[in-house]
Amino acid sequence: KAAAGEEAAHPRWVRINVIKSTLEEQLETTFRGYARAGTIQDVVAKEGKHILIDPHVPNLVAITPGCDLSKTEAYTSGKIILQDKASCFPAYLLDPRSEDGDVIDACAAPGNKTTHLAGIIRSHEPEFESQPQTIFAFEKDSRRAKTLEKMVKIAGSNKMTRIALGQDFLQVDPESERFRNVGALLLDPSCSGSGIVGRDSMPELHLPDPPQQNPRRESKSEPTNKRKRKYEEIRNSNQTVIRDDDGNEIVVESEKDLAARLNALAGFQLTILLHAFRFPSARKVTYSTCSIHSQENEHVVMAALNSDVAKERGWRILRRKDQVTGMKDWPVRGSTEACNGDEEVAQGCIRCYKDDSHGIMGFFVAGFVRDHANASEGG
Ligand code: SAM
Repeated sequence: KAAAGEEAAHPRWVRINVIKSTLEEQLETTFRGYARAGTIQDVVAKEGKHILIDPHVPNLVAITPGCDLSKTEAYTSGKIILQDKASCFPAYLLDPRSEDGDVIDACAAPGNKTTHLAGIIRSHEPEFESQPQTIFAFEKDSRRAKTLEKMVKIAGSNKMTRIALGQDFLQVDPESERFRNVGALLLDPSCSGSGIVGRDSMPELHLPDPPQQNPRRESKSEPTNKRKRKYEEIRNSNQTVIRDDDGNEIVVESEKDLAARLNALAGFQLTILLHAFRFPSARKVTYSTCSIHSQENEHVVMAALNSDVAKERGWRILRRKDQVTGMKDWPVRGSTEACNGDEEVAQGCIRCYKDDSHGIMGFFVAGFVRDHANASEGG
């Protein structure tokens, strides 16, 4: 099936799940017959099936958009996972090592990053059949937690993952004995989803938690582009309700509503981040969103760094020079202006824009670290 619209300008990203396969094996089997491309533009534009091994994230490839892998043995058995390149950044940046102890994925469903964390742990310690480290995966929404459970099982990471079905991460006590060895946390909370490619096709994955004052009701049948144009019309005219050609009511946020919603989301995102800072043995945290808005990104990072808990416990930004190679090399960084002129923090922040030449979704990720001596101090 050919990809359409915005999606056609993006390759399909495929992560090789190293718990079940290897890049070499997949090149020989699932991607046998794919021609090697030199650039993302070639992958997207050239006739026939092309593949590019990603230069930043290990075990990731880009293939021609529209190639359907959903029926392949590799996909159904969890050897490959369809995951946008940007979505691979957080687990790769966190880089959990055996010395980090247990790991928390605080907002885990559907499980792309949980399974990626498991793969990274395994690739660092390939000889361990049963891993000494545990991943605690929390998911507040029970329905989505079931999907997470399935994904973790298919990916073969169930032995090392404890899933807390329907568990709100914010209700978890950081001082609990169970989490005594948690050294690394991955935070990928609900966000506006403004960076998602083909945003209208998968809104359910990133619905924000704060109740929306004007819930949308949309005609499912209306073609995406037509709907998008209507949304634009409303934004420009500041109306909030219109009817489509079929008489269905469409409610759209005005600019004012959007600002209020981003504000509410940012408050929630900061709360998640500060909660993570309270785990006594934690030394590494990553914070990510698939939003392009500074309010949910650099502003949250700055507020977290300026918080009392960060100062008391010695949390600071993971500087660019201290990041894993592929993330250090990634060229698109945070906005210095949105970081109040702090160049070091801005350079520590990693950004992606869906309309640039990298062929990935709009995304943001930043890492936080603190020194060994501070961990376990003062709780
Ligand atoms: N990390 C996931 C992945 O890569 O597949 C995507 C996570 S999605 C952006 C955010 C998820 O966080 C949603 O499934 C949402 O239900 C969940 N969530 C929101 N607030 C939460 C909380 N307080 N505790 C646990 N999960 C939460």
